Amino acid sequence: MIVVDAHVHMGPGLANHAAPPLLKAETVEQTLEIFDRSGIDVGCTFAPLIEGGDFEDYEYERSNRFIYDAAKRHADRFIGYCRVNPNLGQQALDEMRRCKEEYGFRGLKLHPDWEYFYLNGPTVRPILDRAAEYGWPVIFHTGYYPLSQPTLAMPLAEAYPTINFLLAHLSYRHTADAIVVAERCKNVYLETSGNATALAIREVLKSVGPGQLVYGSDLPYTEPDDVMEKIALQPELSADDRALILGGTMARLLGLNAATRSTVRAAAQGRLS
Ligand SMILES: [Zn+2]
Repeated sequence: MIVVDAHVHMGPGLANHAAPPLLKAETVEQTLEIFDRSGIDVGCTFAPLIEGGDFEDYEYERSNRFIYDAAKRHADRFIGYCRVNPNLGQQALDEMRRCKEEYGFRGLKLHPDWEYFYLNGPTVRPILDRAAEYGWPVIFHTGYYPLSQPTLAMPLAEAYPTINFLLAHLSYRHTADAIVVAERCKNVYLETSGNATALAIREVLKSVGPGQLVYGSDLPYTEPDDVMEKIALQPELSADDRALILGGTMARLLGLNAATRSTVRAAAQGRLS
């Protein structure tokens, strides 16, 4: 079994936060320590939100570069995801190109509330055209009215059938709507991070099934062990289905092949022994 955390933040921008995150993931070493103690083999890793302060990086360019340096040194642990602000237009597209061609990133994170755009608004379309071209999965922060409601993802999922979309946080209090989107769109996956409750996870399992539910923690804002515990608490979840949720499905979406998996496992065992 491989454990892939679909939602990991890392980087120096975390030091800016007015309210410090629960855990420390400003450095590669701090993040790997969390991975190791929680049994995370690989993390889909992207920049934290930028709050200003000493580390100023509203274009995410320095943050993406940081993720690249980490993924280069620890290719077996970090899968780099690009982060851009769609409102920046061509600058965002240029940064995506750098992330793909220079950095070898393999996914995209977008946050409608933080970057202030409508999840299905006009600024996001060119960004998704590019993500489709690159074959990247796209993880959206989803949650509250008006910018990031999960139902806004439905027209996007229909317009971009080749993109696999992840709706983060089970869309907080809008889990019921997220379920409707996932039921209708097979390229939509619901991701467990943040304060998703064990009950919300159960609802997803009952309605959508384990194939469209993926584990993500939102580390360092959330303790990964807590999220895994909520998955472990699910009644009548088979070992195979649990393995799919914890990493099997993400491994498939990212094209991690058997060789990658055994490399990851060997690396993990090496570190633990
Ligand atoms: Zn997050």
